[in-house]
Amino acid sequence: MFSTPNEVEMHEGTLKPVREKPTREELLSHYIHFVLDHDLRVNTAEEVVDVAGNDNDGFIVRTDRDQYRASRVLFAIGAMAKPRRLNAPGEEFAKVHHHFVEPYPYVRKDALVVGGGNSAAEAALFLSEEGARTTMAIWREDWENRDPKAGAMKHWVRNPLEQEIAAGRLRVVLYKEIDEITEHEVTIKTETGESLTIPNHVVFVLVGSDADLTLLKKLGVKTEQGKLTEVPVYDPETFETNVRGIYVVGHFTNARHIKPAIDVPRRIVPLIAKSLRAAVSR
Ligand SMILES: Cc1cc2nc3c(=O)[nH]c(=O)nc-3n(C[C@H](O)[C@H](O)[C@H](O)COP(=O)(O)OP(=O)(O)OC[C@H]3O[C@@H](n4cnc5c(N)ncnc54)[C@H](O)[C@@H]3O)c2cc1C
Repeated sequence: MFSTPNEVEMHEGTLKPVREKPTREELLSHYIHFVLDHDLRVNTAEEVVDVAGNDNDGFIVRTDRDQYRASRVLFAIGAMAKPRRLNAPGEEFAKVHHHFVEPYPYVRKDALVVGGGNSAAEAALFLSEEGARTTMAIWREDWENRDPKAGAMKHWVRNPLEQEIAAGRLRVVLYKEIDEITEHEVTIKTETGESLTIPNHVVFVLVGSDADLTLLKKLGVKTEQGKLTEVPVYDPETFETNVRGIYVVGHFTNARHIKPAIDVPRRIVPLIAKSLRAAVSR
């Protein structure tokens, strides 16, 4: 993770990573134990497939297993539902992944990582460090971006990445587009227009992802263009959308990252409870 424990832990001092920053596994374990310790009712592997109704009669939330009535619905659906694609020929091969989990299946294999943000940089670093023959295809403007506010690679990713390059283990190609992915190769057009064909066992396309706003739009929630992507329109204080009773939090709003994904519900859930109590006593 790039966050420090105080930014992502549920209560102060309860996340104790081995190093300065928690790993993904340490953080997931922290959250899972929070759920277990507080015996929270979390239904896993249950997808919400439809939300219908309105604030007056309440909403019907239909899942792939059951259905629930709710007077208020808070959407916290993240922004990973729709990984962006290159739309390059061959992108449908099984060796092409749009998520990166771990480098271990790719030791001594030829790996290509396409992308210019932290996810791509981190994947290229981990693959290279763990013995995959790694090529990173990145646009020059991303490679040269040093502005953290504009999404530049974090320095604790860039520095070891540059060490991998200097040691000759990682190749960076400043590219224009991926021309074709075939079973055993990838053909890349470099920024100078040259065509480069390299052997390849696995491709990671890590060029961002978008939220699936279908359920919200069906309810009548308005959206707008945010800084990076399309976001729902909501009140910045209450996070209620233009549809009364429908709230949004987390990574698919403008309050991205884990800290606001924890802080905002902490602030607005009591407000939602208050509005419910007021509605009952009316
Ligand atoms: C490689 C990587 C590293 C990152 N590192 C950091 C970091 O160090 N610090 C930081 O602050 N942020 C980091 N982020 C961003 C961070 O992951 C997000 O900010 C955070 O997960 C947002 O939480 P969220 O609850 O909004 O969304 P998510 O964590 O994406 O959770 C949304 C959940 O909703 C579920 N869901 C979606 N649709 C439905 C549906 N219809 N029915 C039921 N469930 C549904 C999804 O399955 C998912 O479990 C990183 C992201 C990546 C990809």
